[in-house]
Amino acid sequence: MEETYKEKLKLIQDKVNLLEPRIFLSPTEVMLMVFRHTAAEWSVMSLRKRKKMGNFLQSSEFGKNCNIFSRQLIFNRDHNFCMICGNIFDMDFLNVDHIIPKSKFPNSHPWNLQTLCIDCNKEKSNKILDMIPLFLKGAKFRTEKCFSNGTGSLIKLMNYSYQTKSFNEEEDIFNKIISKYNSWNDVMKYLSIV
Ligand SMILES: [Zn+2]
Repeated sequence: MEETYKEKLKLIQDKVNLLEPRIFLSPTEVMLMVFRHTAAEWSVMSLRKRKKMGNFLQSSEFGKNCNIFSRQLIFNRDHNFCMICGNIFDMDFLNVDHIIPKSKFPNSHPWNLQTLCIDCNKEKSNKILDMIPLFLKGAKFRTEKCFSNGTGSLIKLMNYSYQTKSFNEEEDIFNKIISKYNSWNDVMKYLSIV
């Protein structure tokens, strides 16, 4: 791949990493926001619909709201920048992307999520696989800037909202990937022995 393209991706990371967070949130606050939002919807529902919905926390409404909020969090953290083309978009034109593809690593830790515009997400190809360590480093850096009180319950929210499996030692796994490996082949080698 052209060196200039990689340079461009590095510049986008540097630029967004330098921005001050627009919000400082604790994961507990995030969970409360989702809960309040779902409760407000629940309160105006008919009795019949409430009964049909069953357990509040396991309802599709709760899952849907988790999804809406976690999307907003990632977009906010990334300042609505597409991390590939470097343009700023309205939320409707953005997707949450799994940096290490879900098929290889089914985990929605915020460090593995980033903002992409719809077009770049569609065209994301093997061309940029070796940029994964750079993307992971950036996502981790920006997450830590926004969430000063740790990311424990936020990870749960993300896993719930994207219906993916979680790993007990996810932080450790990500730390190892980020600190040790510089190419996609190395990452894959590591993941295959986890
Ligand atoms: Zn883009």
